[in-house]
Amino acid sequence: MIKDKYADEIIDILNESGYEAYYVGGCVRDALLGVQPGDFDITTNAKPDETAEVFSRKGYRIVETGLKHGTISIICDKRPYEVTTFRVDGEYVDGRHPESVRFVSSLREDLARRDFTVNAMAYHPKMGIVDYFGGQEDIGKRVIRCVGEPVKRFEEDALRILRALRFAGRLGFSIEERTSTAVNECRELLKKISAERIYSELCNILVTDSAADILEKYVDVFGVFIPELMMMVGFEQKSKWHVYDVFKHTMVALKNSPKDLIVRLAVLFHDVGKPHVCVEDAEGFRHFRGHQKVSCELAGEILRRLRADNKTRERVCRLILHHDDRIPVEETAVLRLMRRMGEDTIRSIEVEKADNSAQNPDMVYGRFVDLGKIEKLYEKLKKKDDLCLKLSDLDISGSDVISCGVKAGPKVGEVLEALLEEVTEKRLPNEKEALVEFVKNYF
Ligand code: ATP
Ligand code: MG
Repeated sequence: MIKDKYADEIIDILNESGYEAYYVGGCVRDALLGVQPGDFDITTNAKPDETAEVFSRKGYRIVETGLKHGTISIICDKRPYEVTTFRVDGEYVDGRHPESVRFVSSLREDLARRDFTVNAMAYHPKMGIVDYFGGQEDIGKRVIRCVGEPVKRFEEDALRILRALRFAGRLGFSIEERTSTAVNECRELLKKISAERIYSELCNILVTDSAADILEKYVDVFGVFIPELMMMVGFEQKSKWHVYDVFKHTMVALKNSPKDLIVRLAVLFHDVGKPHVCVEDAEGFRHFRGHQKVSCELAGEILRRLRADNKTRERVCRLILHHDDRIPVEETAVLRLMRRMGEDTIRSIEVEKADNSAQNPDMVYGRFVDLGKIEKLYEKLKKKDDLCLKLSDLDISGSDVISCGVKAGPKVGEVLEALLEEVTEKRLPNEKEALVEFVKNYF
């Protein structure tokens, strides 16, 4: 079933030295699903120092990855193989990381501490699969089920709530009924989990095929750490442009967007500001003027709170701020877009496409065709090597500008920005002589 040259070798060596050893966790699950495992984890009754000794004696390079948790990495062909001693988690201090771990002698105990039945199987190359908790049956039924009592397992470690959603999303499984009920019942426990760990799981969930389905079904869970989402739920748009409420619209857009984290974060929050700017006119139609800016601000707050890295936050916010710009099908407009969006130019088109795809089809078909044309224009322009999109692409430097008589300091940057604008708008060629001339005349 599972076959990996080096993992087999590691298991062999441990067995020869008198220890038990098995493939365990995600790799067993993935192999049963016919998916290529990302990495191969091994579990053994050898204590970490015993594992280290066996392999260093044989000349392997080892790294003490997580000695506290009983993990030693053995490097084979430059790849780390994690070998972890059978263990159970120590005391959980109010639903966070266990403070300590305790090594145990039986595989069964090690498997019993794992989160879901599909993640709690082991495999031995000679003895086959070890499955005490019905993992194979649950793979057959395509369900995520806690090992043991779901509420108790979520109380031990609330992050498992999001892990359940992540695996359901990634594998396209549903969450077994009792586990699903517990996911909802225990959701408030997520408040004890650090923002970093929550954000990391959120990202993992967002880039799965079923992200939108999971978010829709478990919105109350996400609402615990992103309460802003709750205002979107059921918020009617009452507009000829729309056929869904704000949340449903967002979910349909999410479903129709590529599985790219930046795009998906932008789509998730692109309309989060709508409930805050809504104005209803005399005929009962709703308008959301300025929602781009408010959505951008709220997304910034949310991502800051979740401790997203600055670069991701800035890129997502920029996409949101401009998601409704509706640029015309013209070369200069696309160049302006490229200048503004940089590496995210195509993402900005993808966000608009996704947004469109979740609006009233009768109203947006024309724009959809235009977006296809804009994308083609972009593909064409991108290939040009004389593109002038950033200050460093200009055929003039800051010191040249100073030589023209501009005072050194912030003014130089302003002049360069102005020149870039002139060049992208095709009012000036990107040639030094013309640029110098322009500076001398205007500044
Ligand atoms: P992936 O392919 O995403 O890495 P994985 O199953 O390997 O999936 P990991 O997060 O790498 O997931 O964890 C490895 C294994 O450790 C899991 O399969 C599971 O058995 C166990 N595990 C990890 N985190 C927890 C947790 N919070 N509670 C219980 N068991 C866990
Ligand atoms: Mg893993």
